[in-house]
Amino acid sequence: MNVSLDSALTEAEARYSAANVASAERHAGARQAMPGGNTRTVLHYSPFPLTWTKGEGAVLTDLDGHEYVDYLGEYSAGLYGHSNPKIQAALKKAIDDGTVLGGPNKYEAELASLLTSRFPSLQQLRFCNSGTEANVFALMTARAVTGRTKIMVFDGGYHGGVLYFGHGGIPINLPLDWVTAPYNDIDGTLKLIKMHGQDLAAILIEPMLGSGGCLPARRDFLGALRQAASELGIILIFDEVMSSRLSSGGLQAATGVTPDMTTLGKYLGGGASFGAFGGRSDIMAHYDPEKPGYWPHAGTFNNNVLSMAAGLTGLRDVYTPEAAVLLNAKGDRLRDGINTLARKHNVALAATGIGSFIGLHFSRDVPDRPVHHTQEEEALHGKLHKLMHLDFIAAGLFFARRGYMALSLALTEAHIDRFLSQTEEFILSRRALLG
Ligand code: PLP
Repeated sequence: MNVSLDSALTEAEARYSAANVASAERHAGARQAMPGGNTRTVLHYSPFPLTWTKGEGAVLTDLDGHEYVDYLGEYSAGLYGHSNPKIQAALKKAIDDGTVLGGPNKYEAELASLLTSRFPSLQQLRFCNSGTEANVFALMTARAVTGRTKIMVFDGGYHGGVLYFGHGGIPINLPLDWVTAPYNDIDGTLKLIKMHGQDLAAILIEPMLGSGGCLPARRDFLGALRQAASELGIILIFDEVMSSRLSSGGLQAATGVTPDMTTLGKYLGGGASFGAFGGRSDIMAHYDPEKPGYWPHAGTFNNNVLSMAAGLTGLRDVYTPEAAVLLNAKGDRLRDGINTLARKHNVALAATGIGSFIGLHFSRDVPDRPVHHTQEEEALHGKLHKLMHLDFIAAGLFFARRGYMALSLALTEAHIDRFLSQTEEFILSRRALLG
């Protein structure tokens, strides 16, 4: 048992460094050509990230030969697990048939119609290459349709690399006219909508804050946004890049609140890069090149064969509505189990989220919106997340440093039990540090 958090961390970090010499070496080499050795910030964690060499089912293998159960699921893009045979066959077939064909392919229309049949707001849609891109297209569409300039987003929201609204935003955000509203706060948000209403082109919201901590929007909050947007001619956009897996028709189907537009991404490309934006057909009709005055929508890889083939097979043959129910029930069991353990041992640990998404917070209360910590509290939480992450890695369980999990179809009930017993072990061994 360690006496202080700092000494526990020093010891855990030394253990990690000693066990992962090959990953450390690769990271040091990567620093030469890439700042911080990194090309996707979220994949960086201290002292250095593990380098993956292989994924099979729910198991990841690193450069030093260790195996880990993968509870991160590639930040939700890995919903199908690492080697689903149906997805692999679809990818192999697409490769065998040639990949850069330069025309419509046989997959895209079926995937589009499957998506429109599942998501209530999607009357028509178009594909692009990432969730970020989907949101950029949706926002610019809303501005062009309404002739207005301002965009309402929410504190803690994440919509892509240039659309991040946690901690007051980032210097590389797109220079649009943002109005940042408080999540799950009906009065505070309606006040801002009233103030900016005639200038607002769009309200862009994640129906569950994903990167902001797996915090679900309340149904009445979404309903209030729907009503205000309809009254004022504002385009309501649900960013379901993450949350689309939470029912067969995303959180819009689960909550019964239908936005004007929806953006998608992640697992819907079956493991290949993917984005889509769509919504009301009167809005999407602007992109019809057979209509005079249409708006062009470009993107060399918008219908890339690998994403379309794997995405179609995945959604049609693997992530059926029944599979969605089962996966999300597994996540509910894990979340409830973690919260039950925290209560049983009376420690400050709370699991949030919906279905297959779980956010871990070193708190006694279950937050419903981003909590603004002091610098000191922020540092303490960062250390606790690091300790938990390193302890779980030492035990062969992997998830994101910030305490985020996106369960994959490859995880079994036994994997859920294993996470719960490791959680109890962590609580018991680190109880004095948890508060
Ligand atoms: N929107 C949400 C809610 C996301 O979680 C993400 C990615 O994490 C994005 C958009 C951006 O998607 P991509 O990384 O494909 O650009």
